Amino acid sequence: MGGFRVTYATLTADDTELEAAYTAAVESVRGELGATHPLWVGDDERFGDTFTTVSPLDTSVEVGHFTHADAEDVDEVVEAARAAQPAWAATPWQERCEILDRAADLISERSVVDGAALAWENGKSRLEAIGEVEEAADLIRYYTHAMREHDGFAVPMQRFSELEVTSDVMRPYGVWAVIAPFNYPSALVAGPAGAALVAGNTCIIKPSEIGSLSGHLVYRALVEAGVPAGVVNIVTGGADVGSQLVHHSGVDGLTFTGSSATGMSILQSFSTSYPKPAICEMGGKNAVIVAASADLDLAVEGTARSAFGFGGQKCSAASRVFVDESIADEFVRRLCARAEAVPATSPLEPGGFLSPVVNAAALERFDAVIADVRHTGEVLTGGERLTDGHHAAGNYVAPTVVRVPDDSTIWTTELFLPLIAVRSVASLDEALERANAVPFGLTAGLFAEDDSEVDRFLDRIEAGVVYVNRAAGATTGAWPGVQPFGGWKRSGTAGKAGGGPYYLQQYLREQSRTHVQRA
Ligand code: NAD
Repeated sequence: MGGFRVTYATLTADDTELEAAYTAAVESVRGELGATHPLWVGDDERFGDTFTTVSPLDTSVEVGHFTHADAEDVDEVVEAARAAQPAWAATPWQERCEILDRAADLISERSVVDGAALAWENGKSRLEAIGEVEEAADLIRYYTHAMREHDGFAVPMQRFSELEVTSDVMRPYGVWAVIAPFNYPSALVAGPAGAALVAGNTCIIKPSEIGSLSGHLVYRALVEAGVPAGVVNIVTGGADVGSQLVHHSGVDGLTFTGSSATGMSILQSFSTSYPKPAICEMGGKNAVIVAASADLDLAVEGTARSAFGFGGQKCSAASRVFVDESIADEFVRRLCARAEAVPATSPLEPGGFLSPVVNAAALERFDAVIADVRHTGEVLTGGERLTDGHHAAGNYVAPTVVRVPDDSTIWTTELFLPLIAVRSVASLDEALERANAVPFGLTAGLFAEDDSEVDRFLDRIEAGVVYVNRAAGATTGAWPGVQPFGGWKRSGTAGKAGGGPYYLQQYLREQSRTHVQRA
């Protein structure tokens, strides 16, 4: 595509070749939707009872029929992954990296077509969809890079005598489960699976029901690149299938990305007879702070993109704004105007920005929140379902800005809707205090031109991913190797961020090897 590369900082795809290819892919993928997909348990392709998912862009479009794994399938997939693990761990890490780099290249080569599939599946705009598939590839590349950079994690240690030789190595845990969310169904399968596999674990992918098609596309790229059968496997289904994996004694480690409530319960139930690693990446309630010194153009643009992009369904979405009282009226007026100016274009079309919410439950959540705001606070703009034009076929709601009282749960609950609450504050200190006064700590953004304010923000904000003066997204748009992504507090268990320098090590355990030589 003429060297043009889509990332989350890409504001327009000013590339006619790319736009034409995507438009064609939207149609060709549409023609292929509705297929029945199996489980892959080792090299065994299994069909059985299915569940059906529909597109949030047009709920009359069936995305696919996916085989629902039963308890026996889960037992057997764990068995297949266990059987394949010793040989994969014994495969030189350089070879594992080559295979995974090939998988990343296949994913990149297919980013337009697989991006279109992802868009049909969860409603992402074309830039977000292509960007996510590219992110999936770059996450894998980042972990092969990390493995190489650490030379396979074999370190010669100091010694007390010439005859006592110690090396320190990092070894895989065994079987790793990857339980993924609907909102990044490609990247959050490929990233954790890539890290697990590079490290020498075998892997069981359990996508979100709504992300099952994208999960299969990542699985296919891994297998076509040469990841052997059994080393990677895929089982589809709902919470029941995830829960069976979590409670299975044959699973040695897991990465869960999803809601905080589920992640916390997984964390508490995964380790039974001995501690096992559980990387849980969870929800957010991300704040933007607009200081008196802020450039308002940047602040409005960055806040709107983060609050309304992908219908507010990014874990990093901005859902709270604290704005200095001296500029609050002007900021709120302009943010509302920006919300009202979001184009009505379908997210499948060039320039489309507003995505539908994912399902009927999200629409109902929106209605309930709006009813609550109308009762306790004020809807400043939006607050309606959208039903005109192409919106009629899908789950659309208007970008919404609200003002609610301090004791409203809207300040503390992750809603996953294109809805942001605004509040004026007397100072940066007050803004920081309010921003930190939630159990979450995923992302945060500041708009300020004063360096001492920037320092104060960076010093005190309790979040794993923070941005200053970012119009492309006040709180959103991290990229592997550029902005490591991980949450603090109730947003993440690991304290280490995906796509960052300390991530891969979590999929490995250390072994110190002392070998006393004969004199
Ligand atoms: P979810 O928690 O409903 O589901 C996530 C996955 O867990 C799905 O595959 C689901 O089937 C499975 N699951 C559900 N209950 C389970 C259980 N009891 N045991 C095992 N597995 C179970 O989340 P979702 O709605 O798909 O995704 C949105 C959530 O994910 C939001 O809270 C968002 O903030 C979070 N998220 C976080 C990050 C991050 O990096 N921190 C990234 C993306 C999404």
